[in-house]
Amino acid sequence: MKDMVQLLIDVQELDQRIFSARHKKTTLLKERDQLLQQTDALQELLGQLDDRIAEAQTQRDSCQEALQQQLGQVEQCEGRLPEIKTQKEYLAVLKEVDAAKKQVKDLEDALLAKEQVLSELQADAEEKRQQHDSLGSDSSQRCNEIATLVEELDAALHQQDSQRGELIEKIAVPLRKRYELILSRLNGQALVEAREGTCQGCHMRLPPQFFNAMLKNRDITSCPHCNRLLYIAPETH
Ligand SMILES: [Zn+2]
Repeated sequence: MKDMVQLLIDVQELDQRIFSARHKKTTLLKERDQLLQQTDALQELLGQLDDRIAEAQTQRDSCQEALQQQLGQVEQCEGRLPEIKTQKEYLAVLKEVDAAKKQVKDLEDALLAKEQVLSELQADAEEKRQQHDSLGSDSSQRCNEIATLVEELDAALHQQDSQRGELIEKIAVPLRKRYELILSRLNGQALVEAREGTCQGCHMRLPPQFFNAMLKNRDITSCPHCNRLLYIAPETH
């Protein structure tokens, strides 16, 4: 029975390593996905900004065009002034000139505002583009590191899995089945030590009679509280 206890301890140790390697792999893959998502999100944002810039440019251009037209209008009105014969007509055209100039002023203000909007959008896009570029190069570097680490973990896992296959073969089938069942339920720790009357898995006290029987028989048994397999460490008397 002592050999069997040691064998189970070895399997358990191996399972802990397998469990932690799998966990590491999952964490790394999650990190990689997050990095890719961040770059994608920034890329999408840049696309939206580019659309808004194009729209702002169109608006600025049409405002500029309207301004040019209005300036032509002022010039045309003023050109008519020297040919005017009557005072009444003169005043009417002057009034027209004033109105056209007022519109020029409004359009100049509007143009300024549109140029302001455009330059803010362009500055924002430039900043995001730089962020995207630096994030992109950092993240592709990290993704390469992750790929290497995952490859190493896969190789280790492959080796550990075959090592485990060899060990588990040597454990009697009913015990093996119990072990595997608890392992799948309790995520990585199916075998624990019973030390000083306490289960080291759930840290509950074992009934004294139960623990004394364990000390005497040195058998593998189940914790009455958490159902994990219990053993007495081979080195203690
Ligand atoms: Zn327990």
